[in-house]
Amino acid sequence: MASTATDALLQQVHRIHDIGRALSVLSWDREVNMPKAGDSARVQQMTTLRQLLHQFATSDDYGAAIESAAAELDGLPEDDDRRCLIRVLRRDYDRSRKLPEAFVLELSRVGAVAWTVWKQAREDNDFSNFQPHLSRLVELQREMAGLYGYEQDPYDALLDGYEEGARAAQVGAVFAAVKAATVPLLEAIAERGRSIDDSLLHQPFPVAGQEAFARHVGAVVGYDFARGHLGTAVHPFATVFDRNDARITTRWYPDFLSPSLFGTLHECGHAMYEQGTAEALARTPLGRGCSSGIHESQSRMIENLVGRSRVFWRAHFPSLQAQFPQQLGQADAEAFYRAINKVQPSLIRVEADELTYNLHIILRFELEQAMLSGDLPAGDLPGAWRDGMQRLLGVAPPDDREGCLQDVHWSGASFGYFPTYALGNLHAAQMFEAALASDPAVGLDLAAGRTDALLGWLREQVHRHGRKFSPDTLIERATGRPLGHEAFVRYVTSKFSDLYGLA
Ligand code: ZN
Repeated sequence: MASTATDALLQQVHRIHDIGRALSVLSWDREVNMPKAGDSARVQQMTTLRQLLHQFATSDDYGAAIESAAAELDGLPEDDDRRCLIRVLRRDYDRSRKLPEAFVLELSRVGAVAWTVWKQAREDNDFSNFQPHLSRLVELQREMAGLYGYEQDPYDALLDGYEEGARAAQVGAVFAAVKAATVPLLEAIAERGRSIDDSLLHQPFPVAGQEAFARHVGAVVGYDFARGHLGTAVHPFATVFDRNDARITTRWYPDFLSPSLFGTLHECGHAMYEQGTAEALARTPLGRGCSSGIHESQSRMIENLVGRSRVFWRAHFPSLQAQFPQQLGQADAEAFYRAINKVQPSLIRVEADELTYNLHIILRFELEQAMLSGDLPAGDLPGAWRDGMQRLLGVAPPDDREGCLQDVHWSGASFGYFPTYALGNLHAAQMFEAALASDPAVGLDLAAGRTDALLGWLREQVHRHGRKFSPDTLIERATGRPLGHEAFVRYVTSKFSDLYGLA
C-alpha cells in the first residue's frame, strides 16, 4: 500500500501514545511496587519522558501532519474512525499549544510543592500552611482558563479539560435538580425511615478471604483477568497500558468489608470499559475512555447499579457466605443488601452512600467556582466548607482534616474535575435505564445475578467507541436523549423509598 499522509501521521500518533503509556507503567509501578528509595530516580525518568512527550505533542511538524491527513480524509463519514481521530487530535493539539512551556513548568512546580504541603497539612490538621499554596494554585488556574479561552465562565475552560463540551451553567442546572430531589428524600429517611443495621460489615474479615472474593466477584461482573491484574494501593485506581492490559488496585481493611468489595467493583467498571474499546482504535487517543464523567459512569454502574442491587446479592451472597461462614453464616442476602445501602449523611466524600454522594460534589463545585471567580478567598475556604456541609448535608466537620483538606484534587491542581463524579452517577442511571428498555434479556440476566447482556449493551453503545465521540454525542446516541437528572432521581427514589419503607 502506498504511504499516505494518514500513515505518516499515525506513526507520530503511535510514538506519542507509546511514550504516554510507558509513563503510565512507571507511575503504576511507583504506586504499587517501587521501594521508597527509588523515588528520586523515578521522578527523573518520568520528567524526561514527559518533556519528550510535550515536545512531540506540540511540535509544528505534528500540527502540519494532522492537517495534511485531515485534508486527505475530508469527505469521509462523520463517525468514521479516522475522521473522529482527526477531531480529537486537533482538540488535544490546540489545547496543549495554548499553554506556554514556562507556564506548564510553573504549574507543575507549584503543584508538586502544594501536594507535599497539603499532605502534611492534612496530617497536622493545619489549613493555614496550605492556604498560600492554594491561593497560588487558584491564580494559576485562573490564568490557565484565560490561556485556554472561554465564552462566558472561566470555569468552563477547566471543566472542558475533563468533560469535553460541558459548561458550568448547564451542569449547575442539572445539579440543582438533583439536589431538589435528594434533600426531601434524605429528610424523609431521617424522619420516618426504618433503621438499618450495618454492623455485619464491620467485623474481622481476613484479607486473604477478601482478596479471594474480590477476584471471584470481579470475574462475575465481567472483568477479564487474563487481560488484567489486581494489585494493592492506598488510594485505589485503575490504570491502562493497552486494552489487553487494564489493571486495577484495591485496598484491604481487616475489619471492614466494604472498601475492598466495592472498591474492586468500581475499578473493575473502569477497567472493563478500556478492555472493551475496539482493537482498531489501539495506540491512538481514541483507544481510551470518552471523558472523566463517562468513565465514572462505567465504574458507578458496576459498583452501584449492579453491585449494590438486591438481585445481585440474592444470587451471590451464598458465595460470600461460603468465604466468610463465621462472619456471615447467620445473615441473609436481604440483611446484607440493606447494610450495604445504609444512608447516612457523613463528612467524607469517598465513604458517602449513593444518595448523599452528589451533595458532596455539589459543595465542591460551588466552592471551586467561588474561588475561581474571586468571590471566595482561599483563607475563607474552611468556613465556607463548614457552612456548605451544614446547609447541604446537615453535618459539619469538627476540623479541616475531615473538611476542606480531605481531597487531593485541589493540591494536585485539578480544578473542574469534581463535577465529573456526579455526572458519572447521572450518566450511569440514564444508561442503565436505556439498557433495560432495549432488551428484556438485560433485566432477566441481572435478575439471575449475571451481567452478560448488560455488558453486551455497554460494549456496543459505549465501550467500543472509546473516545470517538464527545460525551454529549455518546449519551445521545446510546440513550436517545441528552444527559438529564431524571433517570437518576427515579432510580434513587424508588430504591431508597423501598429500602426505608417510605412508600
Ligand atoms: Zn472512579
